[in-house]
Amino acid sequence: MSSSRTVEENREVANEALARFSSSPLLHLIDGELVPSSSSLTFDNVSPIDQMSLGQVAAGGPTEIALAADAAAEAFDGWVSLPGGERKKILHRVADLIVERADEIAVIESVDTGQPIRFMSSAAIRGAENFRYFADAAPAALDGDAMPTSTHLNYSTRRAIGPVGVITPWNTPFMLSTWKIAPALASGCTVVHKPAEWSPLTASILAEIAGEAGLPAGVLNVVHGVGEVAGKALTEHPAIKAIAFVGESSTGSLIQAQGAPTLKRLHFELGGKNPVVVFDDADLERALDAVVFMIYSLNGERCTSSSRLIVQDTVHDWFVERLTERVNGLQVGDPLDPRTEIGPLIHPLHCAKVRSYLDKAIEDGARVVIGDSKFDPNSNFVPPMLFLEANNSMRISQEEIFGPALTVIPFSDESEAVQIANDVEYGLAGYLWTGDSGRAHRVARDLDVGMVWVNSQNVRHLATPFGGTKRSGIGRDGGDYSFDFYMETKNIAMAYGRHDIGKLGAAKT
Ligand code: NAD
Repeated sequence: MSSSRTVEENREVANEALARFSSSPLLHLIDGELVPSSSSLTFDNVSPIDQMSLGQVAAGGPTEIALAADAAAEAFDGWVSLPGGERKKILHRVADLIVERADEIAVIESVDTGQPIRFMSSAAIRGAENFRYFADAAPAALDGDAMPTSTHLNYSTRRAIGPVGVITPWNTPFMLSTWKIAPALASGCTVVHKPAEWSPLTASILAEIAGEAGLPAGVLNVVHGVGEVAGKALTEHPAIKAIAFVGESSTGSLIQAQGAPTLKRLHFELGGKNPVVVFDDADLERALDAVVFMIYSLNGERCTSSSRLIVQDTVHDWFVERLTERVNGLQVGDPLDPRTEIGPLIHPLHCAKVRSYLDKAIEDGARVVIGDSKFDPNSNFVPPMLFLEANNSMRISQEEIFGPALTVIPFSDESEAVQIANDVEYGLAGYLWTGDSGRAHRVARDLDVGMVWVNSQNVRHLATPFGGTKRSGIGRDGGDYSFDFYMETKNIAMAYGRHDIGKLGAAKT
């Protein structure tokens, strides 16, 4: 396992795996063939660890998107007509091959994103679980409902909507790609995937695995490229019936406009500024563990991170003292080192954005605690940050930082806690710590978010609805919610017998 090897051993595995990619630019997969861009344009993929090139990547544009969309359209009838049980077998083989290559996927993901290996090893396995879950659900995906009335038997069936586009971000690319692509394929859709340009590698591994598992040519296509070019072309292509998008809220707005002329069905999983509310009757030690985990794991580059701690004033000082100790104890370093808890952030531009919140915190009047750090300020490493004595109107409380930065806001009673929690533009997740079950239900009811975890960190069950309110998203996925997005529901009304039919034009006879 990559998380039990030394940093040197992980580096060796990563170098071997990378050698396979560096011989040529990373190519698109279109209709089962690895192809360069027609323009021959490429871009450099740089590791966040040391700014070294991980190789060139083919930069796709409208031409490659059109070829991929045509291939997905051509492959659709064959794939959607395959019995669900056959799709299930192929998708289970994809999962088997992911498990076989989980170590390689984990180290590649780590060098490509900067995410610590301790989290990436389970992210690869979770990718396999996504495929298994939706593989098992594939045979029943067509099932609808029966709604008998006095005159008609109504029943509904579902059918895959057609070729779809999947656009994913850079933070945990493998896990997120599988979360979107597995239900699309299970439902019978064919896919054009546009992965994030800052972490493109594992999308190509997934495509390779899918081909080895027996997925027919054209069913899964991958076009690399920048969002404003390849991503935009995908959202505008008339053959693509729906776009499943994970990324920033502002990009979601652009995609909504780009998809409007072709009336795209859209599913958005966007940004968050998620509250964790800690009441003084909670198990404070467990709450502390969860608070630290949910903001400083995955480099804080996590949509469901609890980036605002809303803590009752009666336990505020106790909590902040221990939080400060933990932040100072966080291990920042090489993501391939199994001891590392925070790795380098994805890109210098993103680092600059995250670091800018140090100044913003001070300008807005917060007190800043910075974890011990002994690394080059010009690198992609940033220290963990803790913003104290904050209020909810500060930029550190309102804006998604998407890094290892936690804002602490005190409250005095339940209604104030809810008011602060809801007073943001986002509504993805909320976390709640209390020993009072009535309060737990009340506050969970009143939080304006798509998902609430009570006395828990984020623990996902694949059947449950995942998604956000407000600027955090549109729609839900998970379980049957995913199939609802990737499929069209058709109602069939069958008359029992001779019910009344109005006779028009028959007055003269
Ligand atoms: P981003 O919006 O910049 O990019 C996401 C993807 O969209 C990339 O593949 C990019 O190339 C593409 N893209 C960019 N412009 C486009 C355009 N005009 N048309 C089509 N595609 C375009 O997001 P990011 O910086 O890669 O990811 C971080 C964001 O993702 C954060 O806001 C985070 O909260 C969010 N996120 C949300 C979830 C969730 O489930 N809600 C999960 C993970 C990440």
